[in-house]
Amino acid sequence: MKIAIVGSGPAGCYLADQLLRLVPGCAIDVIDRLPVPFGLVRYGVAPDHQATKSVSRILDRTLAHKQVNFFGNVEVGRDVTLEQLLSFYDAVALATGAQRDRRLGIPGENLPGVIGSGSFVAWYNGHPDAKIPPIENIKSVVVIGNGNVAIDVARVLAKEPSELAGSDLSHDITQLLAAQPLREIHIVGRRGPADAKFTPHELAELGNLKRAKPFIADPEELEKADATPIVGVLEKFLENGNCQDSNEQRSVSVVFHFYLAPVAFVGYGRLQAVKFRAKDGKEVEIAADLAVTCIGYESLPCCTAKPVDGKFANADGKIDERLYVVGWAKRGPSGVIASSRSDAQLVAKKIAEDVSDGGRRGGEGLREHLQSKNARFLDHTGWKRINDAEVARAGEHRCREKFCSVEEMLEASGKSPS
Ligand SMILES: Cc1cc2nc3c(=O)[nH]c(=O)nc-3n(C[C@H](O)[C@H](O)[C@H](O)COP(=O)(O)OP(=O)(O)OC[C@H]3O[C@@H](n4cnc5c(N)ncnc54)[C@H](O)[C@@H]3O)c2cc1C
Repeated sequence: MKIAIVGSGPAGCYLADQLLRLVPGCAIDVIDRLPVPFGLVRYGVAPDHQATKSVSRILDRTLAHKQVNFFGNVEVGRDVTLEQLLSFYDAVALATGAQRDRRLGIPGENLPGVIGSGSFVAWYNGHPDAKIPPIENIKSVVVIGNGNVAIDVARVLAKEPSELAGSDLSHDITQLLAAQPLREIHIVGRRGPADAKFTPHELAELGNLKRAKPFIADPEELEKADATPIVGVLEKFLENGNCQDSNEQRSVSVVFHFYLAPVAFVGYGRLQAVKFRAKDGKEVEIAADLAVTCIGYESLPCCTAKPVDGKFANADGKIDERLYVVGWAKRGPSGVIASSRSDAQLVAKKIAEDVSDGGRRGGEGLREHLQSKNARFLDHTGWKRINDAEVARAGEHRCREKFCSVEEMLEASGKSPS
């Protein structure tokens, strides 16, 4: 049986792994629009959390399997259509994730200085499509959202360069962030402390930073909150002193605000403040040079397949005849990397039950098609060359220095210039 998986993030790689177990003799092609695999493991997970990023070694083992081929720099919709893939393969699975930031839909959202976390995180992780945000003279940052992505953003901004040693945050971005006169990071949630979606471990990390100290804007809210592990960590922050005293070495305040609903981004030509509505109906303004909204993501259409409410409608992973979906594209943007593993198990089972070998051409058909279009695609060997080159040029302070353009990646993979 010939199967194409569109997307080489955790969901795509786990699905390939499960199919290898369930469908003896299958041939699987994993296609990604970028020359490099692993989706948000490479471009979402924070650069200073290398232990989490190391899951890519497990995913890579699947891509290196002899029954699996990697087609990098092939975008479904640009280089090949879904309909063409369905003509080459017995089954096609979308593992395209949720690539677009959800918007708040409030005034001022297009002001320079307001950015969605997907775009911001893609920028500091060196994604080739990422636009450079206006990082200049940043004194105060507002981070909207109460999940781990908000914590990641705050932590990467709050850390000083020595704390980023060993990460894969690029030299230039490390320097740019360190050069900002940063004093305040405000993490703002619409609901209360007991409803926050942080994980205790990630939250507690903010209490152990060299130049930043966490504070609670309104300690009374903690007193009233139900006891949860998160509330416990926030109480520890309170116990460590909830005011910036003159002896305090740590110059950056990370302030937690609860029960504030965003109303508008305010500024002339660029962001100057974020306006919120408090529980009592009063409006509150927090000065900000940068606002990062961490409020979720939605899937993009893939040719004729269109998401509804941010994800692809499906029945246990099936969208249509021979067309499947897995991971964030299937269930929406929640859950950790491991959640895509259990998801992949179910979808692989469904494919194994539903689909039979139709004698289709598989990768041979795709390769011929791409060659006829002079598409510059690469295989697993090409990706390994990019990987080796990134590690080799990292220097002593980081584990890798990523190539941040597709052209550089293709060059490192051995592809001649277009
Ligand atoms: C900022 C952030 C931090 C996170 N941190 C953690 C963490 O610390 N720990 C944790 O467990 N989880 C974390 N997660 C969650 C984790 O990254 C996701 O659960 C997981 O990556 C979802 O996997 P996926 O394969 O569905 O999507 P993705 O990882 O997004 O992969 C989708 C892939 O599809 C490709 N693609 C998209 N469209 C096309 C197309 N048309 N043609 C070809 N290819 C295409 C993309 O290039 C990408 O490689 C984080 C998420 C974010 C956003």
